[in-house]
Amino acid sequence: MKFETKAIHAGDRPDTRFGAVSVPIYQTSTFAFEDVGKTRGYDYSRTANPTRKVLEDTIAQLEGGKAGFAFATGMAAETTVIHLLKTGDHIVCGDDVYGGTYRLFQNVMNNFGLDFTFVRMNSRKAIEDAIKPNTRMIWLETPSNPLLNIVDVEMVADIAKRRGILTAIDNTFATPYLLRPIEYGIDLVVHSTTKYLNGHCDVVGGAVITTTDELTERVQFLLNAMGTCASPFDCWLVLRGIQTLPIRMERHQENAFAIARYLQHHKAVSRVYYPGLESHPGHEIAKRQMKGFGGMVSFELKGSIKAVNTFLKRIKIFELAESLGGASSLAEHPATMSHASMPPEYRAKIGITDNMVRLSVGLEHADDLIEDLSQALGAG
Ligand SMILES: *Cc1c(COP(=O)(O)O)cnc(C)c1O
Repeated sequence: MKFETKAIHAGDRPDTRFGAVSVPIYQTSTFAFEDVGKTRGYDYSRTANPTRKVLEDTIAQLEGGKAGFAFATGMAAETTVIHLLKTGDHIVCGDDVYGGTYRLFQNVMNNFGLDFTFVRMNSRKAIEDAIKPNTRMIWLETPSNPLLNIVDVEMVADIAKRRGILTAIDNTFATPYLLRPIEYGIDLVVHSTTKYLNGHCDVVGGAVITTTDELTERVQFLLNAMGTCASPFDCWLVLRGIQTLPIRMERHQENAFAIARYLQHHKAVSRVYYPGLESHPGHEIAKRQMKGFGGMVSFELKGSIKAVNTFLKRIKIFELAESLGGASSLAEHPATMSHASMPPEYRAKIGITDNMVRLSVGLEHADDLIEDLSQALGAG
């Protein structure tokens, strides 16, 4: 089956009792045993739930992995994956990952004896130099948030494979429709399904996709032991969203491209970050490893922080809000919103300036979106 068909039909969907076409929401905590010691496949919803299982199988198939797991949030998925490691282990992580990932690693997991090195993953040497004898995992994100830097996924997988190091990628921005990291040799894929996979700004959720029986067993164990799983209703919402993922992603990136081109020529804008632009440093790699360039666009405004505030006050169709990947377009200010958990010096070091604005380009008509940006940017 092709991707579009799997997005609608993957997993064990047919309802044998009534023929419901929409997967039923099994809103139950527990399941009656058929006999002593004999279940019908489910016993308790933390361990497994039939609605969750359909979502998990669907995401696993879309990513081309062995098994999938659905979590309460993207951070719950990440927390579970990082618990595959133990005290004394070292992790090499991209320096421009999601702010919450940085916070979890640097301010929480650090206290449990995990050691992190954050590097810009734009060269083989930078990554290899960061590897220590106790490095057990490389964590990457591409396109990164909010800088939209591109990491060469195949290169990272190769570096790790040669040394027996696990790789985990946060594939939230690209989604499996645009990038399938497992095909390049990545071991674990992580998602915030809150974003494009669900796609309607009405749920928080996460997912992990594994590639080996050993990883599948360990992630299932941790999910059950830590209780980080998603609720049946949230799984149902994400399942509903995934059905339209391919057509949504096509429109997201068509609109994003139009906006990136528009902003590039605007006098009030000093720099545009969009991997689809030939001027983007990661353009060639993105073209090679992705099916498209995605729906996120970041840019820098000329002038003082006042220019940013004025722009964010003036936008009308774009809502001033964190998060991304929904039907409605959103604009946010990384320095005070999504990346406020990074210290200012760290933000400055990795290139997140105070004048940067991040757009999650939605599914509205591109003309209306550009008109909204135009009136908010003022004469230019
Ligand atoms: C939002 C986000 C997360 C965290 O997911 P939640 O569902 O908010 O917990 C992780 N990684 C990326 C890239 C994100 O955008």
